[in-house]
Amino acid sequence: MKKLNISARELAEFVYNEGDLNLRFIDKRVLQEGIRLHQYIQKSYKKEEIEVFVKSNIRFKTFDLTIQGRIDILTYNDNLPHVIEIKSTSMPLDELEIDSNRAYLAQAKIYAYLFAKTNNYKQVMVSITYINRHNESDTKRVSRIFLYEELTTFFENTIQAYLTFITIISDWQDNKMESIKNLEFPYERYRKGQSELIDHTSSAVTGNKKMFICAPTGIGKTLGTIYPTLKGVTNSNERIFYLTAKTVGKQVARETFSLLREKEDLKFRTLTMTAKEKICINDECKCDPTHCVYTKNFYQKLKPAMEDILVSVEDLYYDNIVSYAKRHEICPFEYQLSLSMYSDAVICDYNYVFDPRVYLRRFFDVNASQITLLIDEAHNLYDRACNMYTASIRAYYIMMIKNQVMDHEKIQELSSTVLSTLKQYHENLNRNSINFQTMQDLDESLLKAVKQLTDLLSDYLEENKDEEFSEAFMNSYFELLNVLRISEYYNQDFIVYIEQYRDNSTYTIRCLNPKEVIKQMTDRVKSSVFFSATLYPINYYIDVLGGQASEDEQIVLESPFKQEHLNLVVNTSISTKYRDREGTKNQISFLVNHLIRKDGKYLVFFPSYAYLELVFDDFTKHHEYEGTILKQERSMTLKERESFLGHFDHSKRNVVGFVVLGGIFSEGIDFIGDRLNGVAIVGVGLPQYNDYRNVLKRYFDEKYNKGFLYAYIYPGFSRILQAVGRVIRTEDDVGVALLIGSRFAQKQYNHLFPKHWSHYKKM
Ligand code: SF4
Repeated sequence: MKKLNISARELAEFVYNEGDLNLRFIDKRVLQEGIRLHQYIQKSYKKEEIEVFVKSNIRFKTFDLTIQGRIDILTYNDNLPHVIEIKSTSMPLDELEIDSNRAYLAQAKIYAYLFAKTNNYKQVMVSITYINRHNESDTKRVSRIFLYEELTTFFENTIQAYLTFITIISDWQDNKMESIKNLEFPYERYRKGQSELIDHTSSAVTGNKKMFICAPTGIGKTLGTIYPTLKGVTNSNERIFYLTAKTVGKQVARETFSLLREKEDLKFRTLTMTAKEKICINDECKCDPTHCVYTKNFYQKLKPAMEDILVSVEDLYYDNIVSYAKRHEICPFEYQLSLSMYSDAVICDYNYVFDPRVYLRRFFDVNASQITLLIDEAHNLYDRACNMYTASIRAYYIMMIKNQVMDHEKIQELSSTVLSTLKQYHENLNRNSINFQTMQDLDESLLKAVKQLTDLLSDYLEENKDEEFSEAFMNSYFELLNVLRISEYYNQDFIVYIEQYRDNSTYTIRCLNPKEVIKQMTDRVKSSVFFSATLYPINYYIDVLGGQASEDEQIVLESPFKQEHLNLVVNTSISTKYRDREGTKNQISFLVNHLIRKDGKYLVFFPSYAYLELVFDDFTKHHEYEGTILKQERSMTLKERESFLGHFDHSKRNVVGFVVLGGIFSEGIDFIGDRLNGVAIVGVGLPQYNDYRNVLKRYFDEKYNKGFLYAYIYPGFSRILQAVGRVIRTEDDVGVALLIGSRFAQKQYNHLFPKHWSHYKKM
């Protein structure tokens, strides 16, 4: 007998979902609203009548199935059990019947069957309660009584329709668990530090913990985290999410799973997620049946498309997903989302887990206790998460809406209300001759107006769904929805930031510290491992990434590379402070010129474009260089970036590139061997002083008494570690790193030098 767990909802949707896909106006807030409306209806029932768990073991042919789910409401009418499913909708309620949506009814009938079977009832009443998405007092209930025999026949037919699919899944699960049992490390020896990384990751995964690991370059951290996580998988429902900030990280993780497949015969299906705009196979991403043929009959075509790919592909990624999607004429983006449910590991960007707009509710709104998060390059997560939880109301958005929906009086009126509030803020800033102001509390009346405006817009879009709306208009609508969404997370780690923008003001809800939202998500999963070569100082990252210093483990591993391979030199005689830059630019050019006299390829890092330009001009004016001189521009196309990096290939001899710290050339690029012989870093990497940074500094002062450290010094030093880390990528690499700046003589900076920099020389 083959054992298999299935959720009632998954079963019903897989077999009975039908119709076209229409994502054009869908926003995740609609789903949140659905949850709220569920709770609104459930409120009038007793605690024991809501979210009633049902589970049954059923033998069907060669399967031992465990089917389970939660009934929205379960009551009794004169001893007759009554299963109620709640569904929110924007359709007119008088048009809806019990079987208007086959998947909804199927889900309720499966619950009724499971309940009747376990409790020996001869019949069950099944109801669907529809609730109007825009008016919670508008509801409709439709009911029917089903005999147990009817429910049994229905259930068996449903399972029969699912049989091919469950056969594929169950065969896969058996092979998967067997392959994990036999899985060996794919190399004869570990890299230096790698076995420690494996032991720590293993302890996090098997002990259901959160762990923060600073794992320097060269340890082999991708394999060093994936391998022990796989070995820690003890049941077939467990899943790994490998999260990265950059495409290159996704590629390395994918290759690591492929290596384990090839060398160790691992059976573990992986899905590498691609963003919608990139995987869309149309010229324009307009996701509704009038524009996109791949939405047509999506749900009927999905089942054969899933069966087709899952029998033969273990490494799901862009190429094969698009190819199968084309073969079955379905949207590749939604196809990949459906495939994720049947993938053992999902390799994706941070936003699929942490961004409130796009996180994968199908995993993280239900029971996520079987998921392990491997969070690569975790030093990036603070900035990324702050951006995910920051949203603005701009006059531009409101004007866009006002000008597009001219014929709607109420929309015009509400748009004017929002605009006039922004204008008042603007006048207040002017009156006080200030550029910005902050507030601790949200402007509830402004948000109320925005809520009313977006509700009306949502109805308007629904009513005019065949009309063409410009991208700018749709984006404005979505941005306003985002403001409302972010306002729901508002707490003491956020601030309202109002600033001048042209002749108006912008109202922004800014996240200063995303620790709570990250914590909430990582609390839901089985275990989380945050790791990076520059997760340092580790206490800072624990504070801003939702860890708890007293509970979560913190590991700092040593660099596997020989110290003497990096010639680390620190010049503390030149001031790089803002006021001194003009006066010291020629000294810096001189040092750069001295560094690059030796044949090779070099990068010179600056904290800002302005500083880069200053020294670049001086250098090109006063020094002759026989190699190629490159400069990073403020914006560069993909082709321009590739061309820049092309100068650092093995065939080129002498190159120097002037670049900015924390920019596109300072991390995520492997300059192996003689692709890079050295770097110079000008200054201590401090982010630019500005109003916002100072707000951040005040916040961190109040919170941890570490304002300057958390807002300036640590983020800056992380960029320096990244830049120096470009030089030595393998144990055979050798090179030089020159740090320039008088502040490196100060304790607060040189105390941050990691252990493997202890050999540095002063110049
Ligand atoms: S193929 Fe493109 S346009 Fe069509 S539904 Fe998918 S993402 Fe949208």
